[in-house]
Amino acid sequence: MRDITHFIGGKHVAGTSGRFADGYQPMTGEVISRIPLASKAEVRAAVENALAAWPAWAATNPQRRARIMMKFVELVARDNDELADLLAREHGKTVADAKGDIQRGIEVVEFACGIPHLMKGEFTDSAGPGIDVYSMRQPLGVVAGITPFNFPAMIPMWKFAPAIACGNAFLLKPSERDPGVPLRLAELMIEAGLPAGILNVVNGDKEAVDAILDDPDIRAVGFVGSTPIAEYIYTRGCAAGKRVQCFGGAKNHMIIMPDADMSQAVDALVGAGYGSAGERCMAVSVAVPVGKGTADELMNRLVPRVESLKIGPSTDSSADYGPLVTRDALNRVRDYVEIGIKEGATLAVDGRNFKMQGYEDGFYMGGCLFDNVSKDMRIYKEEIFGPVLSVVRAEGYGEALSLANDHEYGNGVAIFTRDGDAARDFASKVQVGMIGVNVPIPVPLAYYTFGGWKRSGFGDLNQHGPDAVRFYTKTKTVTSRWPSGIKDGASFTMPLMH
Ligand code: NAD
Repeated sequence: MRDITHFIGGKHVAGTSGRFADGYQPMTGEVISRIPLASKAEVRAAVENALAAWPAWAATNPQRRARIMMKFVELVARDNDELADLLAREHGKTVADAKGDIQRGIEVVEFACGIPHLMKGEFTDSAGPGIDVYSMRQPLGVVAGITPFNFPAMIPMWKFAPAIACGNAFLLKPSERDPGVPLRLAELMIEAGLPAGILNVVNGDKEAVDAILDDPDIRAVGFVGSTPIAEYIYTRGCAAGKRVQCFGGAKNHMIIMPDADMSQAVDALVGAGYGSAGERCMAVSVAVPVGKGTADELMNRLVPRVESLKIGPSTDSSADYGPLVTRDALNRVRDYVEIGIKEGATLAVDGRNFKMQGYEDGFYMGGCLFDNVSKDMRIYKEEIFGPVLSVVRAEGYGEALSLANDHEYGNGVAIFTRDGDAARDFASKVQVGMIGVNVPIPVPLAYYTFGGWKRSGFGDLNQHGPDAVRFYTKTKTVTSRWPSGIKDGASFTMPLMH
């Protein structure tokens, strides 16, 4: 059993609050670690440490800061196998999937290596007689990130890499369910040359989060997690005068048009619906076949594919997916299947009784597939976050589009079709932040921005891409005039440039 620590000022620091959480290894169900839950005083100590380190970091030239990011990319590549193994053991996803989690995070660190270019200000020569105007972007100070369990490498990197490259000090509060990889990443940042105190990690639960939200020296908070917590953090953080961006839950639809390549659509659905046991914010959880013929063919092909999904321990390289993150998560997903049956949906594949031989205490669940789901059912309206796919049959394209538009979540969506006209119309009209055309999990590349609409995202700016630079910096505009441009005498009217 491993004792997890906090990471403050470049060193591991034991928790002193006396409160701890159990850390599980989902593939065996064993408790493998004891995770300290920080008190308000411990969060404050981390903030003070960051505050002391920040001015020198803000004054470090942007290219030097970027070089540390480049070195970090090398170190993560060096330790990739070890990180992926740790991630899979703490989270439950397969090692191959854990490598994808790390890779999509590293792509944002690579993007952050180019941030000196994006931080450049603007300049207007001779905006008036002898007057020049220029703008500059400056870091905010100490900023914080609160991250979910489901991408313990990618999302911390999405948060801290742009923030630090912009010259901020960063306080990370990772999920208390899988903090091992975020802590390793912080160690690697120090090994890459980051000064102590510029990336501190505090483990904890609501008490630590509230301490972050109330701390007057934290200038901005970025959050990723479920919608109720996203909304809470957004409201409380904004009320405290902070800059806040929060990304929440999802119910991602995949529309299958009658002209779609059905083999590709079915491959896409099983991968995006059941990969990582459905514990992805961009997982497809609703399939919407358009027309009875499309729906019947889809079901005929999907049922055997879902029945033959290969579930295995996280270390099994041939497994399609591994266990869920905790027993609570497993029970919650099972409860939703029960709810779906009671609501009258047709359970075409029931994976609830799946048992993993040799790993009987692990948190495994077979794939479940519901047909004839309707929009008034809870299994349609709520995020299940497990290996459960719902099929909602639509009569026409308009009905399919309305389903995606009327849903309270608006994170990701996909349309499968060969008709360019339909795809273009869909991309233009759908009220969702990230859209795939024949792409089931349209996670934008690092140099675009990631963010959902409606109740999947709170705040104006998205994650990574140019929005990250806007979020983690503030703009200052300087109007300057040198003596040769100054006419004598006071002016009492509104200053004009001519
Ligand atoms: P969660 O909301 O339970 O936890 C997220 C973070 O909030 C954790 O650090 C946790 O410690 C903290 N937290 C939990 N309860 C809190 C409370 N009452 N007060 C203050 N802080 C609290 O989410 P999770 O289960 O870790 O992650 C899964 C959720 O995250 C899903 O809803 C998924 O859709 C969402 N998610 C969204 C995105 C996105 O970009 N939109 C990406 C990944 C995950």
